[in-house]
Amino acid sequence: MTWMLPVTDLKQWAYCPRVIFFTYLMPGLRPLTFKMEAGIAAHEREGRRERRRSGRLYGLPEAQRIEDVALQSERLGLSGRMDLVLRLEDRAWPVDYKLSRRIGIAAHFKLQLAAYGLLLEDAWDVTSDQGFLYSIPHRRAEAIRFTPRLRKKVLHVVEAIRSSIDDQRMPPPTSQRGRCVNCEFRRFCNDIF
Ligand code: SF4
Repeated sequence: MTWMLPVTDLKQWAYCPRVIFFTYLMPGLRPLTFKMEAGIAAHEREGRRERRRSGRLYGLPEAQRIEDVALQSERLGLSGRMDLVLRLEDRAWPVDYKLSRRIGIAAHFKLQLAAYGLLLEDAWDVTSDQGFLYSIPHRRAEAIRFTPRLRKKVLHVVEAIRSSIDDQRMPPPTSQRGRCVNCEFRRFCNDIF
């Protein structure tokens, strides 16, 4: 059986591939930092608030709201847990919460959301043509279309992560060196500092 890759790993890979590499090959190394703990708590608080709102927030008042959906697909080799799924007949749309205050949506958030869409299509036999990123600080939802290019990228990243871990081959670092400043794996990236 194929080992299941958590969808959240795709987002992290797009942020910096090496973080995923180190996390798998040096398990137990990564501490749960205060920032991460605060983020998880805020995510849970806002999740409870958002659940009281209707599908109108997403322009889909008729849609059924299904919370905390865990799925896996052996065909895709992916598993994931969605905060919320909106469903209307044979269509379904994942909703993910975003804690960042930055305006605009970074590519790694889109990648994760599209992976959830592919999981829904595979597991529920529905069409998932878009998803929603709900910004916790701004209390606003933004639709992301799952274009053929974005779908292809999901499959490509899944393959890249698998081969990097299976072959124990260190991937290239992020090109955005600002991300390295507070990185807990910084001491292992001697080749770039
Ligand atoms: S130090 Fe930079 S390149 Fe190395 S793992 Fe961290 S973010 Fe990635």
